[in-house]
Amino acid sequence: MSDQALTADEIVALSKKHTLFEWSAQSAVDPIPVSHAKGSYFYTPDGKRYLDFNSQLMSVNVGHGDPRVIRAIQKQAETLAYANPFMAHEPRARLGKKLAAICPGDIDAFFFTNGGAEANENAIKIARLYTGRSKILARYRSYHGGTAGAMTLTGDPRRWAAEPGIPGVVRFPDFHKWGRKDPEPVAESLRDIEEVVMFEGAKNIAAILVETVVGTNGILIPPDGYMQGLRAICDRHGILLICDEVMAGFGRTGKWFAVDHYGVVPDIITMAKGLTSSYLPLGAVGMRRPIADHFQGNVLFAGLTYNSHPMGCAAALATIGVYEEDGLIERAAKMGEVLRKHHQALYEKHPSVGATRSIGLFGMVELVRDRKSFEPLAPYNGTSDAMKQVHGHLKEKGLYTFVRWNGIMTNPPLTVTEDELAEGFGIIDSALSLADKFVN
Ligand code: PLP
Repeated sequence: MSDQALTADEIVALSKKHTLFEWSAQSAVDPIPVSHAKGSYFYTPDGKRYLDFNSQLMSVNVGHGDPRVIRAIQKQAETLAYANPFMAHEPRARLGKKLAAICPGDIDAFFFTNGGAEANENAIKIARLYTGRSKILARYRSYHGGTAGAMTLTGDPRRWAAEPGIPGVVRFPDFHKWGRKDPEPVAESLRDIEEVVMFEGAKNIAAILVETVVGTNGILIPPDGYMQGLRAICDRHGILLICDEVMAGFGRTGKWFAVDHYGVVPDIITMAKGLTSSYLPLGAVGMRRPIADHFQGNVLFAGLTYNSHPMGCAAALATIGVYEEDGLIERAAKMGEVLRKHHQALYEKHPSVGATRSIGLFGMVELVRDRKSFEPLAPYNGTSDAMKQVHGHLKEKGLYTFVRWNGIMTNPPLTVTEDELAEGFGIIDSALSLADKFVN
């Protein structure tokens, strides 16, 4: 093949012919060819511009193409591109120290992974080794990753393909049910959990694992008291609380971690995505001191060739530096207020908008056929003509985001400007005029 750059059509055709796309029936895939990206935008080789309203996978938090992260990666590649995970090196040492400073409470020890699923796999392994118990409780409206164990932990239909999955995972009811506008009263949700704990046997349960704020299942924000109540249940029964902050962490919600909104310290916290802003793959399992100390004398049976990768650690350090230098965590909280106003305006204007939810720059617009019955505009785990039209319009107008079931995700980089928010919500506004036609 010549060195001449491929055209957009060639990129798509060759990618479709010789590679398999994730989570898709291959014949249905219609990938956007992407050649470069900067700030809140990415571009196709033939010059089309997309506003990235999903930060790719709610992950490019510092925006595309930040030169400080790129330079740190380049520098690390030149000095030490790889060292095996049994070695100590400067990026690993510095990143551990840095994360200890920004993580809640006494979480001050970290096991570095390649991403979020692997972080969750290791979180439950660590919980089982530490407690000597086997069961893990998780919820339905959740996603925890695409490896065997993480798919079993996942409650949404992405789990089905991995069934029967790994043993010992038990599900408990969600605080926010599908097809409902509001979350359930906290006391009711906590009673549900207590009941599951009672029937499963507290002494058999190693951990309860939750996404602190649920991401792809609809930006479900626990009402105040829920996380605190969950913490109390765990404490009462000697169960570890694992918070999956793979998506919610690193400023997405307007604080370093979503648990910081609730004053709760989990026993184990998992992270990835915003850790490096996805410039390189890296995840981490953070744990409280007593758990880390357990592995002083007991073997931590975990580790892959690329764990604690020096380039990933260097990218993470630089990314955290950008959050700090540019005040991006505070900025996410501030711009989150602007985003909330746009959500409210859409709700007031469009009858198809049943609800909007956001915390910081973590948001979604939920579409319904009828505000009274709150009948979703697409079935659970499916799509509809209305949602297809909405999605097609957004894409055509150059707005990239996830349209999932009956929801439109609104998760721009934390660097997003007010003008960019106005541009994105302007396009969503026009798409919703199509959705309104499907309202009863
Ligand atoms: N946990 C949550 C909450 C996620 O949203 C994701 C990915 O979207 C994962 C875990 C899995 O992370 P990864 O894709 O890096 O394995």
